[in-house]
Amino acid sequence: MIVWGKKSKMALLGSEGSKPCPVCEKERPFNLMLQYTVHHIWYVFKWVSGKQYGTACEVCQRGDKLDAKAVESKLQKSPIPFGDRWGWAFLAGLIAIAAVFGALDDSSRSTSRETYLAAPRAGDRYIVNLASLLQAPQSKYMYGVLRVRAVHPDSVEFDAPTFFYSSASGPSKDMRAGKLDEPGYFSEKPIVLSRDQIARIHQEHAIHSIDRF
Ligand SMILES: [Zn+2]
Repeated sequence: MIVWGKKSKMALLGSEGSKPCPVCEKERPFNLMLQYTVHHIWYVFKWVSGKQYGTACEVCQRGDKLDAKAVESKLQKSPIPFGDRWGWAFLAGLIAIAAVFGALDDSSRSTSRETYLAAPRAGDRYIVNLASLLQAPQSKYMYGVLRVRAVHPDSVEFDAPTFFYSSASGPSKDMRAGKLDEPGYFSEKPIVLSRDQIARIHQEHAIHSIDRF
């Protein structure tokens, strides 16, 4: 669950001296104030909106709005805490890093896939959308593991899975968890695919990845 939120904050920027307050109808001390809204996701990724500078009477809190540019040109540093201003940059950085790693992962996956496809070896594990092989699949996405049992000149014999998933992450998890070695993961009868059939499903992008020890 994502927690979104926002909070109005007030910063006291110093005394502006005394002057007559029209509301109190008396001489009052005035302060330079800044009101702003911090938006956040999970309280960590923050950004600021609605900055408003003003002077306010210390007693009734009424006063005049001030132009942000005029005030900020006189301030030595931003009165808004660093985390409130730059929290969003942290989020943007995380997203950028994830995108780079995602791209690297995709490219290494596709390099190993091409290499292994060209010269299959017993034990290679293909994560395949098997809907591509079926005449009338139950679903458009039926990801499962095909494990090379034997390699023939014109065809490859695979152990066929008995488990299917709607995305490639399901079979990946099974591989990491060592489930492939459990009895019944693969059906007893192998399936044989011709090299042409393998080339066709590859062209249809049905082969997600190939793993080799
Ligand atoms: Zn006042």
